[in-house]
Amino acid sequence: MEPKTITVKGAREHNLRNVSLKLPRGQLICLTGVSGSGKSSFAFDTLFAEGQRRYLESLSSYARQFLGQLPKPDVDQITGLSPAISIQQKSSGWNPRSTVGTITQINDYLRVLFARVGTQHCPGCGQVISAQSREQIIARILAIPKQTKFLILAPVIRGQKGEYKDLFEDMIRQGYARARVDGEVVSLTDAPKLARHIRHYIEVVIDRLVMTATLRPRLAEAVEAALKMGDGTLIVQIVDSSKSVASSLIDKAVQGKTKTVKRSKRVSAKDADSDILLSSHYACTKCNLSFEPPTPQLLSFNAPSGMCPTCDGMGETFDFDPELLVPDPKKSFLKLAIQPMRTRIGRWRRHIYRGVAAHVGFDLKTPWVKLPQKAKDALLHGLGETHIAFEWRWSGGVWRHGATFDGIIADLRDKHRKAKSSMVRAYYEKYMQRRQCPDCQGGRLNTQALAVRLGGLNINEVSGLAINDVREFFSKLKLSQTQQFIAVEALKEVVGRLGFLCDVGLEYLTLERTAPTLSGGESQRIRLASQIGAGLVGVLYILDEPSIGLHARDNDRLLKSLCQLRDMGNTVIVVEHDEQTMRLADEIVDFGPGPGVRGGKVMAHGNLQTIMRSKTSLTGKYLRGEERIEIPVTRRPVVKRKKPAIKKTKTKAKAKAAKR
Ligand SMILES: [Zn+2]
Ligand SMILES: [Zn+2]
Repeated sequence: MEPKTITVKGAREHNLRNVSLKLPRGQLICLTGVSGSGKSSFAFDTLFAEGQRRYLESLSSYARQFLGQLPKPDVDQITGLSPAISIQQKSSGWNPRSTVGTITQINDYLRVLFARVGTQHCPGCGQVISAQSREQIIARILAIPKQTKFLILAPVIRGQKGEYKDLFEDMIRQGYARARVDGEVVSLTDAPKLARHIRHYIEVVIDRLVMTATLRPRLAEAVEAALKMGDGTLIVQIVDSSKSVASSLIDKAVQGKTKTVKRSKRVSAKDADSDILLSSHYACTKCNLSFEPPTPQLLSFNAPSGMCPTCDGMGETFDFDPELLVPDPKKSFLKLAIQPMRTRIGRWRRHIYRGVAAHVGFDLKTPWVKLPQKAKDALLHGLGETHIAFEWRWSGGVWRHGATFDGIIADLRDKHRKAKSSMVRAYYEKYMQRRQCPDCQGGRLNTQALAVRLGGLNINEVSGLAINDVREFFSKLKLSQTQQFIAVEALKEVVGRLGFLCDVGLEYLTLERTAPTLSGGESQRIRLASQIGAGLVGVLYILDEPSIGLHARDNDRLLKSLCQLRDMGNTVIVVEHDEQTMRLADEIVDFGPGPGVRGGKVMAHGNLQTIMRSKTSLTGKYLRGEERIEIPVTRRPVVKRKKPAIKKTKTKAKAKAAKR
C-alpha cells in the first residue's frame, strides 16, 4: 500500500535544527516563514535533493558511472518520498532556440494539425491544392448536367516551344484522331504547321462524350486513358454553347475545395471559360509545380524538408550590404567605390564591366551616387540569365564574346566563403549585415510550408498570436466531419495546453517567444503548465514562490492550477510568503523564528486553524492580523545551489526534445 505520509527525521541541512516532520501525501502544503528561516533548505536541499539522489540510485550501475553520485543530504531518515520535480524560478537550462511553443510541445501538435487537416495552397499563385483519386475525378465529371456535350482532353504539351510533327504522328499511331492545338480542336491528319520558336499548348482529344445516365463505364475508360497520357492531369472541355454549364460546374468544384483550375493564361480566351482541369497529383497545374503532401516535418524549420533554403531555417541572412560596400559614394565604380574590391581593376575585368555598362547604358566613370538604381543593381547583383556582349580589344583587333554577369556581391560571397584565415573572413564581414530573411520574412519555413493554411492562417501566423487569441482561433475553427475525426487528438492536446498556459496567467505570451526572453516567473509558470499537461500522478512537486510578480487575479488562477496538480494525485509543496496561498493550503509548516542561525525550527505545523491558534508562530499572528510580516522589497537572490549531475542530463534531454 502507498504510504500516506512523507516522514522526515532529523534534517540538519544548512541551518535546519534537527527538523522532524510528517507531511501528508497528495496534499497542497505551504512552507512559510521569514527569509532564511530554513524553508527552502528543507524543501529543496532536503526533500528534493534526496528524491533526486534516490532516483539516481535506482538507475543501473552502468548509467550511474556517467552521472556520478549525489551527496546525501544531512538527514537521518526520509520515508514515503515520491519522485520529485522542482519548478523553480529560473529561465536557464533551455536551448536558446526553444520557444514557448516548443517547451510546451504545443508546436509539435500544431505541426501535426497543419499537416493533417491544413489546406495546401500553391506558393506561386495561392490556388488551393489537393490530390484527387480517379474515382473522385469521375464523380466530379458525372456531375455535369445530362445531355451536355464535352471532350476529355489529355494535356501533352504545356507551353513549350517546338513543331511537334513527330508527336502528331505518334498520336495517330496510338489511334487518336483529334487534338486541341493552341485552343482549336483539329484533325491530327490535318494538323497545322507549328512555329518552332513559339510556345504551344497541345491536348489530345481522348473521347467526345454526351452526358447520359449510362455513361459511367465509357467515361471511366476515358479518364483512365487521359490521366495516363496527361501525366496525371486531364481537361474536361464543355462543348455546349451555354457557357453557364461550365461556370456553374467550376464554381461547384471550387466550393468543394478540389483542384479545378480555370485556365486564364490560355492562348485562346474563348475556351478558357469552358475548361475544367482535374489532376490526380498533388500539384498546381497552373504553375506546373508539384509537391509532396504536407507532413509534420515539412512544417518544422529544424527539418531539411521544411526549412527555408535561403536562410537554412534561421530566419535571417548574413550577407553583403550595399550601403556598407560603398562608404564613399562620390567615388566612381572604376575608382573602387565598392571598397572591398580592394585592387585596381585590371584590363580583363574592366572589359567585363564595360560590357555591363554598355548593356545597361551608363558610364563607369560616373560617381556612384549619381548612377541610376538600375546601374547599381546590375553591378552589385548581376543581370541574371541575360546574355551580355563583351568586346576585348587587342593589337590584333576585337574579340567579341558573350556571357552572363553575376555581379560583384556574388564574387565577394565567393571570396568570403573561400577565405582561409579568420582575418580575411573578418575583413569581408565588416561589409556584411544580418537581415531578416527576404524569402521567408523571418518565418524560417520554406514557401510550401508557409502555404499550408488552417482556418486562413499559416503556422507562423498562429505562432505569432497571443496564446489567448490562439485559443480563440481554435475554438472558432470550423472542421469537416472527416477533419474532426483526424484532428481530434492533436486538437485536444493543443487546446488543453493553451488552457493550462491561460490558467497560470500567461495568455499574453506568443508561442514564438524565445526562452531567453522570458522572466523567471514566466518560465516557472510555463514549467508548471507543462507539468499539468504531462498528467503525471504520484509525483512530489516543489515550487519556489510562484506568486512573485503576479496580480491578484492571476494569483487566483495560479492557485487553481496548483490545486489541479494536487487533485490529479500529486503532492504539491510550495515555498511561499503569500497569504492567499496559505489560506488555500491543506497544511502549513511555519519555519522560524528568525533568519539564519536564529531560524531552522518548525514553529507551527497543521491546517490553517492550527496555525492561527498557535502562540509561537509569527505567521499565525500575521494571519490573525496582529502582526505584519515585512515582505522583502528586494527578493533574496536566487541561491546557486550545487547542481547535481543528474539535472544536467535532464536539461540536455529536454533541449533535445525541444529541438525536435
Ligand atoms: Zn500555382
Ligand atoms: Zn528564410
